[in-house]
Order: sequence, then structure tokens, then C-alpha cells
Amino acid sequence: MESTTSPDDCSVKVAVHIRPLIGDERLQGCKDCVTVVPGKPQVQIGSHSFTFDHVYGSSGSPSTDMYEQCAAPLVDGLFQGYNATVLAYGQTGSGKTYTMGTGSGDSSQTGGIVPQVMNSLFTKIETLKDHIEFQIHVSFIEIHKEEVQDLLDPTSNGKVANVPGKPPIQIRETSNGVITLAGSTEVSVSTLKEMAACLDQGSISRATGSTNMNNQSSRSHAIFTITVEQMRKINTDSTDNGSLKEEYLCAKLHLVDLAGSERAKRTGSDGMRFKEGVHINKGLLALGNVISALGDEKKRKDGAHVPYRDSKLTRLLQDSLGGNSRTVMIACISPADINAEETLNTLKYANRAR
Ligand code: ADP
Ligand code: MG
Repeated sequence: MESTTSPDDCSVKVAVHIRPLIGDERLQGCKDCVTVVPGKPQVQIGSHSFTFDHVYGSSGSPSTDMYEQCAAPLVDGLFQGYNATVLAYGQTGSGKTYTMGTGSGDSSQTGGIVPQVMNSLFTKIETLKDHIEFQIHVSFIEIHKEEVQDLLDPTSNGKVANVPGKPPIQIRETSNGVITLAGSTEVSVSTLKEMAACLDQGSISRATGSTNMNNQSSRSHAIFTITVEQMRKINTDSTDNGSLKEEYLCAKLHLVDLAGSERAKRTGSDGMRFKEGVHINKGLLALGNVISALGDEKKRKDGAHVPYRDSKLTRLLQDSLGGNSRTVMIACISPADINAEETLNTLKYANRAR
């Protein structure tokens, strides 16, 4: 079922990625408190049990299956004109950046979702390019405190703060419902190498700030967007040889490394940090509400309100969440008992999305 490219079968899929205990946790003598029901995509923690579309890591499926099952169908859909979104959700340190593969500023680290997406995208283009003309663009932005920042701005000299005097990046909607970002850098790329360079550049300039939990922690949402435009000539009439019609398709794939989902109190920092936490929660809260509204078949049929406008994050993703588009949320969790409370919160959030 996962391999079909029709978006009708299900618009939102939810997977869980359980990372192993890491050095720090081992040193602290943490115990593994998450179990996977053998042969089932089911996770147990304490007395709670949740079923998802897929579970990877620990004793679930191997993480190497994740790309094929979660992201490959979305890449295929791109070529058919369907927008898509992959979201990595979870507390700081749970493995979001590792899962997406957007961390090191070194995209030659190929295990993550984004490097694999880039790879298969260009492999596919290579097989089609004799018949189809492609134009590929990427953008890489960050939403921090409800403000959009450009991670590919060539004039920012690697700083993340928006350049003073430059108008803020604005999210706009065209009359046919296409969401655009006015004022952000769109880089035209024609090779895997060029796209990887954009990923690296943006990853390096991505804002990080220190908290008690992880000094690489991020309180911002990072969104790497690949736009694929296709122009193909189709023979419309077999009797009238030489009658060619041009078909134009455009679709985008958003690859999102969400802000840490831990509640502000756990960062235990100053008032400033707390305010950031509140803003981040606004995006994650809105996302939860949007995805939950989309997943609710009955609400969808009644044409119920999907609250896209409640945050910059959901507004930006509006044309790529729900409708004809496909969405995969990967909930990342630590197996360590010290993280049990946040892990349970993550599983509850992910469960709402189903
Ligand atoms: P986040 O982005 O959610 O804050 P990271 O991706 O930075 O978390 O992961 C935190 C730490 O755990 C990093 O040192 C990372 O290398 C390690 N890690 C995360 N996921 C895995 C995994 N599946 N296997 C091995 N190590 C992992
Ligand atoms: Mg991270």
C-alpha cells in the first residue's frame, strides 16, 4: 500500500523512530523503557500502548526501511504533481536531525531522509530527462519566534538573523491556493552536488542556542523545500501526427526538522528562552490541530475548518498538508527512562495525528 502514488488512500501517515541509548544516557545508567510489540508497529511505554503506521529502530523495523516506506512514495508523487511534507517531531535530542540527515553540514552523510530524497530525485530525473524538461529549485528557511529566516541568504554572511533593512519574508497565497514565500532565496539547481551544497550551507547557518538539555538544541523549525517543475510534450492526437501539447507540472516537497517538542519548563532557562518556547509551541500546537483535523474523516467530509492560519508553520505548509498532498510525520523518541515523560507526550501527539 505504501508504494502507491495515489494520494487518496491516506493523507497522513505516522511513523515512530526509536533511537538507541546514547553515550550520555548510558553513562547515567539509564534503562530502556520503550518496547516494541514484535512484528507489529506498536509501541509500549509503561501502561500505555500505541499503534502507528510504522515503527523503526529498537526491535521495530530497521531504520534502513524508513526511506523506502516513508519518503520514496512522496518523491514518486512529486513527479506526478503532488505536493508532500515530511515532518520530524520530538523532544530535543530524540534524533530529529539525525533522522532527517540535515545536521552536520555534511550531506555526504547519506543515511538521513533528505540526502536519500536528493539522491533518488536526481536518479529519477536522469532516466526521464530525455523526454521531460526539469527545473529544480530549493529554499531553506527557519521559523523562529514566528518569524521566517532565510538560511540561504547569500548576503547574510552565514548569520541567521535577517539582514537589517531587508523586508521580512512573507508567506503569501495566490488566488489558486498556492503558498509562496516572498523575499526568500530560491536557488536553481541542476545537479545533486548543487542541491547538496544548499543543504550544507543552510544546515551550517541554522540557528542553534544553548539550553540545559542540549547545546545543539533548536527552538526553530527548519524547512528544506524542493520544488520540481516539469515541462513535457505530449502527443495529444494519434491521427494528427505532430500535434504536440505541452504539459506543465509543478510540485514541492517540504522536509521539516521541527523545533524540540519539550515544554518550556524543561529548558529551565531565562525569560527570553521561555518566550521562544511559547512561540514554538504555537507552531507545534497548530500543526497538531491541523493534522488531527485532516485525519478526522468525518470532519473532512463536513468541510470543517482546518486551522492553517494559527501559525506561520501551518500557513507555510498549507498547500502541502491535506488536500491532494501527502504527509508523513516521523515521531522521534529516546528509549531512556529519564525521558519517559516527554516520550509519552511525543507518542500522544503522534497518536492524535493518526
Ligand atoms: P534532535 O535533532 O532531535 O535534537 P539529534 O538528531 O541531534 O536530535 O540526536 C541526538 C543525538 O543522538 C546525536 O548525537 C545523534 O547522533 C544521536 N542519534 C540520534 N538518532 C540516532 C540513531 N537512530 N542512531 C544512533 N544515534 C542517534
Ligand atoms: Mg536537531
